[in-house]
Amino acid sequence: MFGLTDCNNFYVSCERLFNPSLNGKPVVVLSNNDGCVISRSNEAKALGVKMGEPIFKMKEIVKREGIACFSANFSLYGDISARVMDKLRSFSPGIEIYSIDEAFLDFTGVPEKDIFQTGPEIVRRIKKDVGVPVSLGVSHTKTLAKVATRLSKKYPATKGFCLMEKPEDIAKVLSKFPVEDIWGVGRAYSKMLKSHGIETATDFTKKSPEWIKSRMGVPGVKSWRELRGEACIRLEDRTLDKKQICTSRSFAKDLYDFEDICKAVATFAAASAEKLRHQKGACREVLIFILTNPFKDNAKQHYQSAAVNLETHSDSTFTIAGAACNALRDIFREGYGYKKAGVILSEISRKSDLTLSLFEDSSKADKESSLMSVMDEINMRYGRHSLYTAAAGVEKIKSNQNMLSKRYTTSWDDIIEVKV
Ligand SMILES: [Mg+2]
Repeated sequence: MFGLTDCNNFYVSCERLFNPSLNGKPVVVLSNNDGCVISRSNEAKALGVKMGEPIFKMKEIVKREGIACFSANFSLYGDISARVMDKLRSFSPGIEIYSIDEAFLDFTGVPEKDIFQTGPEIVRRIKKDVGVPVSLGVSHTKTLAKVATRLSKKYPATKGFCLMEKPEDIAKVLSKFPVEDIWGVGRAYSKMLKSHGIETATDFTKKSPEWIKSRMGVPGVKSWRELRGEACIRLEDRTLDKKQICTSRSFAKDLYDFEDICKAVATFAAASAEKLRHQKGACREVLIFILTNPFKDNAKQHYQSAAVNLETHSDSTFTIAGAACNALRDIFREGYGYKKAGVILSEISRKSDLTLSLFEDSSKADKESSLMSVMDEINMRYGRHSLYTAAAGVEKIKSNQNMLSKRYTTSWDDIIEVKV
């Protein structure tokens, strides 16, 4: 059996954790640069606020209904997510972190009566110990577990836990489950399926596997088999190291000046390098990209990326940011207003697996590595950007985050004060 836990309205729930006055009120969290809605409380959903709705279109309803709006606070969400995942690990050794707020659990060989006990206990403990509400669905396959989680969210009577075990129950649920909500069936496929009269998961499972394969390939057949109760998507260990690390952002306003973009690229490179060191890796390739604002009509457009191969594997902010800024020099063009840039590190290996190259000076590598640990430690203790490379500039890159809550759990300055 497989379980899927999904935090309810995760970003909003994180905001509420440190601000209980938001409970019962409509709350939304906005994407980078306060663009559009990426998380909604049930109250906001009930008011008809849609996922992805741009905030500038919502001015009136925000005012009229008193919707609380927050800029995305990923330091907070990331930390709460790590706590949820830690808690889950204490219940099941087999876990696959699927996204910031979702994880699959392995219940192989666990008897049904035990799942009936553990399931609600997981939901209760995460709410009590971490403070955010979660839903848990359990069934024979990952795809069916996803369906079960949906049910546990939809029906409050389940108290956040739903076990779909008996074939007759599953059949009943699937006969009402919309085809577009099946895990792995995207928007394009659901359109195609509907054009053939396939509206529900049951309709989908009634097609022949050949029919599905000819239109949706092997992944489609996997979904088909999984819905019929045959587990064929295994639990992946995503806690493994990342193969690529990317940091990219849009700017609050278009940037025309090389120096400004260089500062941004150096900052993103530093952030990527920090993530790289966190997983004890070193990369061989640094890729950067810059692009203009595609939504600005009449403006000249430019998109370009460049990859740099480093001489040896590196985890040093200096090396990586240096390579990124050099690459920027090659692709930057005067006269264009750039809206976004990013730095992607790839060809990542574990540092412990690497042998020192013949030409590398080991004492220099050692020095740089201790410098990096000091830098990480200081930034950890006193907040990001306490120490940075000069290339990243003294002024921080501005992004629009006018409604940002505090980093309650990751910065000493922001720790909550209790007056007694
Ligand atoms: Mg969720």
